[in-house]
Amino acid sequence: MSDPVNVTELGSSEFKEFLDSFDHVFSDCDGVIWIEDALPGSGEFFKKMKGHGKTVHYVSNNSLRTKQNYVEIFKAAGIDDGYENLTIPSTAIAEYLKSVNFDKKVYCITCPETFKVLQSNGFKCVQGPDFGSDFYQEYAQYLDDDPEVGAVVCDCDFNVNLIKMHKAIMYLRRPDVLFITGATDRYALVKPGCLALGTGPFTDIIIEESKRVPISMGKPGKTFGEFAMSRAGVTNPSRVLFIGDTIATDVGLGKNTGFKTLLVLNNATKEDMMAHKTLKPDYFADSLESIVPLL
Ligand SMILES: [Mg+2]
Repeated sequence: MSDPVNVTELGSSEFKEFLDSFDHVFSDCDGVIWIEDALPGSGEFFKKMKGHGKTVHYVSNNSLRTKQNYVEIFKAAGIDDGYENLTIPSTAIAEYLKSVNFDKKVYCITCPETFKVLQSNGFKCVQGPDFGSDFYQEYAQYLDDDPEVGAVVCDCDFNVNLIKMHKAIMYLRRPDVLFITGATDRYALVKPGCLALGTGPFTDIIIEESKRVPISMGKPGKTFGEFAMSRAGVTNPSRVLFIGDTIATDVGLGKNTGFKTLLVLNNATKEDMMAHKTLKPDYFADSLESIVPLL
């Protein structure tokens, strides 16, 4: 594994070589284009990339935002066509279920938006209970299997609880029940310098206890990377530069799917990057803004 290259320290011919090494830019959103608010230089960065003939696509693990919210924040970042070119777990999961002609109930341990997206795609969705019981005796009322449930979906439910996890594990005991995960982030950057615990560790418990391997429709899952490629009309992963701020999800997705990777240091530090034992990006930079003058 060779050491990551700081693109802002490349000479002009080396920078041109870097630019010539990809045709498509895929970018994460949270922590790259915005952190709470749009980060300066983001819109300019993608405009310049398009000026160099690159196609641009956005790939986020965040299904929590509504469409309107995405449209607004892309606009604030100076990006007019962001939502149309965005791949997120909720829509990827809906497309996957359609592709296998799924027609049973989906048990959702998801954020409200993912639940809505699956419902609006015609799937029968069930969820809850949102509040657990204080005693195992009361908790027993929730534990009858429902043979109509044919899929369990986990995607960023901030109200995940013991009973929901138990129900998921119970359904997954039937081998024909599909198991699909969206975002499995262990931490999320919620404001500059502040990482909050994500819902990934809860999904890990379900994976471990059910002994099932989920279909991963979120970063760093290869299926998700390939889904983004097909949405973007891209066939050769080695001609994609994937930009992200999180080593495990973004550099991980790049490695799993065969993309080149660029880490922006809005979240991980250079020391974190160098210390990671298995995942190193090909390139790094302080931010998108720091690359704009070279473009
Ligand atoms: Mg991010």
